[in-house]
Amino acid sequence: MSQTTERLKTLPSLRDSIIRHGLEARKALGQHFLLDPGICSHIASLGGTLEGRHIIEIGPGPGGLTRALLLTKAETISAVEIDPRAWPLLEELCDAFPERLSLFRQDALTLDATTLCPAPRQIIANLPYNVATPLLVGWLRQAAQWERLILMFQKEVAERICAEPGSSAYGRLAVLSQWCADCSVAMTLPPGAFSPPPKVSSAVACLVPHKNQPSPALFKAMEQVTAAAFGQRRKMLRASLKSIGGETLLDRVAIDPTRRAETLTIEEFDRLARDHLASRS
Ligand code: SAM
Repeated sequence: MSQTTERLKTLPSLRDSIIRHGLEARKALGQHFLLDPGICSHIASLGGTLEGRHIIEIGPGPGGLTRALLLTKAETISAVEIDPRAWPLLEELCDAFPERLSLFRQDALTLDATTLCPAPRQIIANLPYNVATPLLVGWLRQAAQWERLILMFQKEVAERICAEPGSSAYGRLAVLSQWCADCSVAMTLPPGAFSPPPKVSSAVACLVPHKNQPSPALFKAMEQVTAAAFGQRRKMLRASLKSIGGETLLDRVAIDPTRRAETLTIEEFDRLARDHLASRS
């Protein structure tokens, strides 16, 4: 038996810890806990061999996934939790693994996660669904900082991240995600896998950032282009992109102005964003 397994055995079980600390799930914090160690260890394994890697877990809650991460070869785990009710329980876990596990009692939305640990870093998390999209977009803005992102979303959001041009799920999230990373859905889970069960199914998206990443200015230009294009997705591009150059912009990058946003490839959006940035500077 590994040292980690032995140490975990000296702690109360996950279910006992939840009861002892009165950690009833709160909807406002997007709390749907994973209590099945098999599912947690499968999610942790999606990071590949974690030897020498520094893991950031957003929203450890009662710590089911955290325990699974401790059982990997990850060098360190930085757990960011906003709910003070979970802190004493997580502090017990930190006390058992002082050299590998640290708790950050913070709001992940206002935190620069790169400050928590050195590279190579991965973010592995069962995300609070109410703030999952803004968290992801924030991490994409600094995509070069992550080796991999393994993130549980509502299934519909994971599908939007990986959607192909021409599909109804293809939109701003697909373009930003696939522009910065190789994206895939690694597993889906029914509501019953969580306690309490959410209303919808969930899925883990795996994002592996590309080697070359856009500059912050180019990322901003892409955000503007995709917001305009998909803000009025039923309109032709010459109308939806009017505020940022419309037909003149489309002419310069050789894109038919009568097309609609959902038909453009990532490469075509890349051309639009680069031209939009160049025309502003
Ligand atoms: N990782 C645990 C699991 O899988 O059982 C809990 C996942 S639960 C879906 C989301 C967790 O994120 C909760 O523990 C919640 O308190 C926490 N959370 C919600 N909003 C947060 C925020 N803005 N910053 C950090 N943690 C947050």
